[in-house]
Amino acid sequence: MTGAGCKETRSTCPYCGTGCGVLLRPDGMGGLAVRGDPNHPANRGRLCSKGLALGETLGLEGRLLAPQVNGCETDWDIALDLVASRFRQAVDRHGPGSVGFYLSGQMLTEDYYVANKLMKGFLGSANIDTNSRLCMASTVAGHKRAFGTDTVPGTYEDLEEADLIVLVGSNLAWCHPVLHQRILATRESRGTKLVVIDPRRTASCDQADMHLKLRAGSDVALFNRLLVDLYEGGALDADYLSNVNGLGEALEAAFASDAAVTGLSDSEITAFCSLWMRTEKVVTIFSQGVNQSTSGTDKVNAILNCHLATGRIGKPGCGPFSVTGQPNAMGGREVGGLANMLACHMDLENKSHRTAVQEFWGAPAMPDRAGLKAVDLFRAAGDGRLKALWIIHTNPAVSMPEADAVSAAIKACDFTVVSDITAATDTARLADVLLPAAAWAEKDGTVTNSDRTISRQRAVLPPPGQARADWDILADAGRRMGWGEAFGYQAPAEIFREHAALSGLSGSFGLDFDISGLAAISGQDYDDLPPQRWPVSRSRLGGRFFADGQFFHPDGKARMLPVRCCPPAAAQGRRYPFRLNTGRIRDQWHTMTRTALAPRLSGHLAEPFADIHPQDARTLGVKPAGLLRLSSPHGQAILRARITADVQPGDLFVPIHWTGETAPSARIDRLVAAAVDPVSGQPESKATVVAAERW
Ligand code: SF4
Repeated sequence: MTGAGCKETRSTCPYCGTGCGVLLRPDGMGGLAVRGDPNHPANRGRLCSKGLALGETLGLEGRLLAPQVNGCETDWDIALDLVASRFRQAVDRHGPGSVGFYLSGQMLTEDYYVANKLMKGFLGSANIDTNSRLCMASTVAGHKRAFGTDTVPGTYEDLEEADLIVLVGSNLAWCHPVLHQRILATRESRGTKLVVIDPRRTASCDQADMHLKLRAGSDVALFNRLLVDLYEGGALDADYLSNVNGLGEALEAAFASDAAVTGLSDSEITAFCSLWMRTEKVVTIFSQGVNQSTSGTDKVNAILNCHLATGRIGKPGCGPFSVTGQPNAMGGREVGGLANMLACHMDLENKSHRTAVQEFWGAPAMPDRAGLKAVDLFRAAGDGRLKALWIIHTNPAVSMPEADAVSAAIKACDFTVVSDITAATDTARLADVLLPAAAWAEKDGTVTNSDRTISRQRAVLPPPGQARADWDILADAGRRMGWGEAFGYQAPAEIFREHAALSGLSGSFGLDFDISGLAAISGQDYDDLPPQRWPVSRSRLGGRFFADGQFFHPDGKARMLPVRCCPPAAAQGRRYPFRLNTGRIRDQWHTMTRTALAPRLSGHLAEPFADIHPQDARTLGVKPAGLLRLSSPHGQAILRARITADVQPGDLFVPIHWTGETAPSARIDRLVAAAVDPVSGQPESKATVVAAERW
């Protein structure tokens, strides 16, 4: 099934973390026919609207076809010699802390691996962060606190074996549509109950048995109340708890919590807790409504506490389940492509781990502490601490909170490189050097989806112009910096083998991420690699984590955390009386670089908007389809009002997708405050206080 011509090639959808398999057939005119892969375990043939329209997004309009230096086209030698010399120069003159990479969950694992190795092992800095910091950093931190490592215990099959599925801060119907379809299909036969916990009514509520419209930021209070009810109802699992520390402290914090702050009625809360308690097989799915919060990590641990206390984890149809926003957020976590991670789930601040990785890489320099996370990375670019910054496949001038300040910081940085498929982004316009990257369907590598399944992305089209794969660009830069032996890769299979071999060290330290069983994979077997869930070690193939009650803290036990409910960082007041929630819509992806090319996707919701409650619209004198001006201390936006009771009085919802290129007045992240979770560093993208007026 592989190869060009009229045969179909197996690959993976490049959008959300569901990781659907696709079958691609080149049409001979530079395009592709796309259908769902019936044999891929994530989707079994299904695709959502975005996946089905992939073939319409491959035109060369707007593609970056040659390297550019200061806006002038040049060749790779000139561009990469400049990149190499400016990064080396910055390290030599100002130390390793003066350079940084900002990456993307769109990158393939092989790309991510080379970037992480170059920055942490050779440039000697941990200043490598990614737009995954905006997506699921709080989950990583919560998993590590509870389990001792960043392990996702759930699988997609659990969704079909559960009797109750709870969606917390997740509009699964729009953001992971195929998973939602799988749940609804099972519900037909199994009668699975579905509960949605979200301040906003979303499409995911259409088939829900219960929608709890809690106040923004109050999730911890709800799950603390659940823990209390589970305790008082005798529903704790004493056997399982023999493998878990911290029950007493967690309960003490839970008893001190007041569920009234959720704004839910006592009967709603009791109905939810009672349903949870009497259902043996419960999966709690959580996403950005949990993560994008100044108390995101505590919210994650509040959920994990309930599953650990009742042993509803490590068993079929049970468990907490973080669904990742991006196609390879998980792969980025696996290679350690975040400022506070090392590689293969090893710890940067653990000397044994660090020494083992340094020896494995033959690396001259390794940082011994965390680097700058996304918000701080751009602050350092703006205040002159960062002298050289390389941004790959992401558009922080639009997507970061306080986006205007981030734009100014990128502009102020001495030397900025951007790798992308197009020069027409707000961020690319600020670059000193632009590097043309190969797009999806033009490059080979692997991605890991939300349930730890590693799948191949495969090239079926030639990269246009001078475009190259990211691993190839990064390795070439590494060679030009003087590290030829360490970056002599000729093909992504070599990188995958090295990554798999390195993961054996993780396994030898007793950690979870181990795919060393694939370390000797041949080029042909890599080409043919079927989807498979890690671990894939010599002693363990796939399987279920935590079934045996064994965790990854040094004592082998899990930890329940005492968590207290904290409101969002900023309080509504006279000047800024509204709370702004931002998120995705069904048919667009991130800053629309690809999805805007498919006319049928733009037909769903064609222009940016702000959802406002009818009561607030009346108070402001806003008519249906009238214009609203929103302002925060950081910026303004003008949007068409959609008057709807889907949002609560005092709340607004605005999509994140529109940019300075597509709708300058609707760049919503310029309003969002860069307040972050103190543990995870993840910004609070769903609870900014703003003013609203008729415009
Ligand atoms: Fe692609 Fe996600 Fe849709 Fe699957 S559900 S087709 S991975 S966007």
